[in-house]
Amino acid sequence: MRINTNLAGMNKAYLFAEIAAKVAAYAKENPDADIIRLGIGDVTRPLTPHVAAAFADAALAMGTPEGFRGYPPYEGYDFLLDAIIAQEYAARGVSVGRDEVFVSDGAKSDTGNIQELLAADALVAVTDPVYPVYVDSNAMAGRLGRPTAGGGYERLMTLPCTPENGFAPQLPQEGAPDILYLCSPNNPTGTALTRDQLTGIVAWARAHGTLIVFDAAYKAYITVADVPHSIFEIDGARECAIECCSFSKNAGFTGVRCAYTVIPRELTAQADGRTVRLGDLWRRRSESRSNGVSFPVQCAAAASLDDTGRRETQALVDGYLANARIIREGLAAAGMTCYGGVNSPYVWLKTPAGMSSWAFFDALLRQAQVVGTPGAGFGAAGEGYFRLTAFNTEDNTRRAVERMARVFGHC
Ligand code: PLP
Repeated sequence: MRINTNLAGMNKAYLFAEIAAKVAAYAKENPDADIIRLGIGDVTRPLTPHVAAAFADAALAMGTPEGFRGYPPYEGYDFLLDAIIAQEYAARGVSVGRDEVFVSDGAKSDTGNIQELLAADALVAVTDPVYPVYVDSNAMAGRLGRPTAGGGYERLMTLPCTPENGFAPQLPQEGAPDILYLCSPNNPTGTALTRDQLTGIVAWARAHGTLIVFDAAYKAYITVADVPHSIFEIDGARECAIECCSFSKNAGFTGVRCAYTVIPRELTAQADGRTVRLGDLWRRRSESRSNGVSFPVQCAAAASLDDTGRRETQALVDGYLANARIIREGLAAAGMTCYGGVNSPYVWLKTPAGMSSWAFFDALLRQAQVVGTPGAGFGAAGEGYFRLTAFNTEDNTRRAVERMARVFGHC
C-alpha cells in the first residue's frame, strides 16, 4: 500500500491538544483551581426556541408518511436557498441567484474542499496568522511542498497581518498566487477588513487572476458600517471571489451543522481551451462527494432567517459581543493593548512585557487560572499575541478580565 505522503508528512496539529494537555496537568496539580476558559472557539448558548422548534417539528414530520423525505437536493432545498438570498444578500442590496448558492454541512468543509477546484500545482496564499484549515487542506493535496522548521511550508505564500499594516494583508509584489484565502471578520485576530481595504484586494486579485476564497463565518458580528458583510458588496468581486458562510457562529449551529457557499456565475477559468464556470465544477464535485444536508437541519437554518429567528439569533450574537467588549475595555483599562472584539467574538491581545505567546499562556494559567490561545499557534506573525474568546458566560468573562488586570495590568 502506498499512502498519501503529503498527509503523513504534515506539521502536527498540536495547538489545541497541547493546550488541553497543559491545562489538564495544571488542574491535576491544583485540583481546587477555578480555571476560566477563554480559549474556546465554540459557541456555548443553546439554539433559540424558535429554531429548536423548527428543528424538532421537521424531525417529527420525517416520522410520518406525508412528511418523510429521502435524499435532499444536493445544493439545498429551495426554501433555504431563497431565505439565504433574501436575508443575507438581497436585504443588503446584493443580487445572488439560486444556482449560485450551495448549502453544506459546514464552512470548515467548504473552505477545506474548495482547493479541489484548483490545479495540483496551484500557488496558495494565506494571511498570517491564519485559520489552519486553509493551509492543512492544501498541504494534504500536495500543493505546499515540504513543511519548514518555522511551521510553514516550502510553497506556501504567507501574508503577515499585523497592527502595522492594519491587519490587511500586504499583497505580493511578484509571483501572484492562484488562490488567496481571506477571513473577515478574522479568526484569530478579531479584526475585519474595511470596504476600502477589500476594494483594493479585489482589484489586485482581478488584475492578477487570483481566486479569493472569502470566509465570512463571523459576518453576523459586524457592527461597523464600513465593514462589508459580503465580498460581493465590492464591485468586481463576482469575477474573482467565492464566499463561504456558516450558521455556526450566529445561530449556534456548531453542533447542528449547516453552512453555504456562494459561487457567482461570472467566476470562470480556462481549461483545455474552454471557458469553465467554477460554480459548475463545484456542483459536479459536490454531487460526487456528498448527499446534502438533512431536512430538519435545513428547516432549522431557514427558521433562523425568518423574523423571529433573526431577532432571537441577533440576541445570541449581541450577548457574545457584550462579552468581547468586557474583555476589550477591561484589558485596555488595565493598560494592555488589544485588537479586534468590535466586529468579532475574538480579542487579539498583545502579550504584556514582550512575553512570547506560550510564556504568556503559562503565566496566565499559573497566575490567573485563565486559559486562552497562544497567537504563535496560528502562524509566525501571531508570536507575541494571544487570542481570547467571548464564548464563555458573562460572569466568567468578567471574572477572567478582573484576574488578568490584577496580575498583568500596567506591567
Ligand atoms: N471558518 C472560520 C474562520 C472559523 O473560525 C470556523 C470555526 O471556528 C469555521 C470556518 C467553521 O465553520 P463551520 O462550523 O461552519 O464548519
